[in-house]
Formats: sequence, C-alpha cells, structure tokens
Amino acid sequence: MSNTFTLAFVLKCCSILPAFEEGKQVHKHVIASGEMQKGGVEPDEVTMVSVISACAMTGALGLGKWLHTFIGKKGIKNDLEVSTALVNMYAKCGCIEKAHEVFEAMPVKDAKAWSSMIVGFAIHGLAKEALETFAKMEEAKVEPNHVTLIGVLSACAHGGLVVEGRKYWSTMLESGIEPSMEHYGCMVDLFCRANQIEEASPSSIRAPQCRELHTTFELICIGITLGENEHSKKANEREGNQGRSGCSSIEINGHVHEFVMGNWSHPEAKDIRGIIWEVSERVQSVGHEPWIASVLQNVGDGEKQDALWEHSERLAIAYGLLKTKAPVIIRVVKNLRVCVDCHEVTKTISKLYDREIIVRDRIRFHKFVDGRTIGELNLGGAFNTYGE
Ligand SMILES: [Zn+2]
Repeated sequence: MSNTFTLAFVLKCCSILPAFEEGKQVHKHVIASGEMQKGGVEPDEVTMVSVISACAMTGALGLGKWLHTFIGKKGIKNDLEVSTALVNMYAKCGCIEKAHEVFEAMPVKDAKAWSSMIVGFAIHGLAKEALETFAKMEEAKVEPNHVTLIGVLSACAHGGLVVEGRKYWSTMLESGIEPSMEHYGCMVDLFCRANQIEEASPSSIRAPQCRELHTTFELICIGITLGENEHSKKANEREGNQGRSGCSSIEINGHVHEFVMGNWSHPEAKDIRGIIWEVSERVQSVGHEPWIASVLQNVGDGEKQDALWEHSERLAIAYGLLKTKAPVIIRVVKNLRVCVDCHEVTKTISKLYDREIIVRDRIRFHKFVDGRTIGELNLGGAFNTYGE
C-alpha cells in the first residue's frame, strides 16, 4: 500500500465500513477513535487495538497490514493487547502464517493471546497445529478460558478427532469451566461428523434446553438421512426464515466495499454487471450446471439461475476481478454460509481466471486455487458448510 496514508485516512476508510451486524460495532469504535484525533490525542495502543479489531471483523487485511507497519514506525508500544489484536486480525483475514509469526515473537503470552492463536488455527481447519499450541499453553502453565476450549473442541470437530474431543470435553468439565452453547455445538458437530448420531443428541451430551442447539442437531440429522442437497435446502429455509440477507465485503485499495444479495446500488454497478455476465457465460461454457435448489424464491428455473448470479459473494468476487490483477488474492468476507452453487462457481472462476480466491463465511475459510479447494475437509455430506 502507498505510504502516504495517515491514520486519519484509515479511520475515514473504517467509517464507511458495512453496517451489517459486526459493522455496527466497528462504526462505534471508529467514531471514538476519530473523536480522539480531533481532540489532538495521538493514536496509542488502545486506539490501535480498536482499529485492528475493526479490520479483523471486516476482513480488511490491507488496512490491518498497514496499521502493523504504522505501529512500528510511530514507535507505538507493541504490547500484549496490540500483538494479540494483530494475531487475531491476521488469522481472521486468512493469513495464518503471519498470525503465527506475530504470536511466536510475543515475549509474554496470556490466555487471550494463546486462545487467539488456537482459534485461528481451528478456523483454518488446522487441527494438529491448534492442539499442539494448546499443549504448549498447558506447558507454559497458562490457565485456559472458555474461548480456548471453543478453539480446541472445534479443532477436534474439524479434524474428526473424536477420542481427543471427548478427552478435552471431560477435562473441561472437571476443571470447572461452565460449558456454553458454543461448546455444546462443537460436541454435536464432533459426534455428527463421525456419524455417532446418538452420542450427538443434546440429551446425550447433557445440554440444557436450547432451540438453537436442537435445530443444529436436527439439521445435521436431516443432512445424513436426506443427503447433502436436501440438507442445504432445509438449512436455507431455516436461514431464510431468519430474514437475513447475504452480505459480502471486499477491500480494494484500502476501502471496504459492501455487497448485498441482489442489490445493484454500487456506483460501479454497470461494470460489475458486465463482469458478472462475462463470468456467467464462461462458467457455463465449461459445463457448470447451476444448482438451482439454492434459490428459495418461488420462481421459474431461468429466474432462479439469474438469482444465483446475484448472490453477494459473486458480486464481491466480480468487483475483485474488475479492480485487481493476479497475483493479488481476492479476499471476500461473507455474513452467512456460502451456498453450494457459489462454492462450485468460485472453484471454476479460480481456474478460468487464474486467480486465488479466499472466502471467509460465517463458519470457516474457503480457499480456491486453480479449480480446487485447498485445506477443506471432505465431510462426506454428513455436515456440510453450505447454505446461503
Ligand atoms: Zn450462493
């Protein structure tokens, strides 16, 4: 990035961050930081932690990297909180190696720092690394907290490590950490992925009555009995009932651009439409069959195909194709799960356009290179990660 950027510029960029869910919180942080600037207060560790966390939430890797350099240049103390925010930011923005580098360089690490690294590995599907880091945390005699355990249990679930998952679960209960819905969710996920459905039922893991958890369990069971497609369809219906629309963001030259499903209000909408049209022609010409079951509206098949091309991540990817050139990686952050058709189409785009694409959805990272997905597990349809 250009070195003419100032912190004020970064804050200005952040102030136009998307207003969906997490974005609201970002906005608040940024206003607070902006106020500090106006009052003539120099950016300090506290401001940096807020802004770096804002970058982590929205996947603004460019800004995050710039802030990292800025901290060094301005001589801002790279303390425990700042370093932890950087580890979290790099991990959430898809740069797990860089996250690990910052983590390794930390002279002192508290539970929050260890947890950020463990959760980071877990969301990247790196179960072995997450558990090794947890072992080192125990060696260093740092007491794990509930976030650490979410990282450990979800790593076990992603890695299909049932025996280990059970072991950590009992240790956690013995150590007196009160399990939260997230912990129960990880255990349901762990058993279901291993096809141990009875073990996975909320009553088996002694989970309290909770609608969300029961819905998760039910959806996973539907997935196993009806197969992947029907599972996604049911999941779609559930997600649709919650009334949330798909929303994806992409950072271009330090600005975060937000795209909502079927919304063409972007100033460069005409060019984006052009790219979408070209991409759809090319993708279809290599034999892609649109998976129209991903579309919930009660319309004809032709309209369903068109609706798929308006999914928010496609708009964001198209904008990435329009504004950047290889080898720049197209990085998109999405608020819901990626649907089956978008997953397949993105794979094809990565090959046809020779571009690396990384999509972070509500659950995990999807990395597409040369028509393939990298580091994703074959879950055999038992519990897939799709469904807009
Ligand atoms: Zn989609």
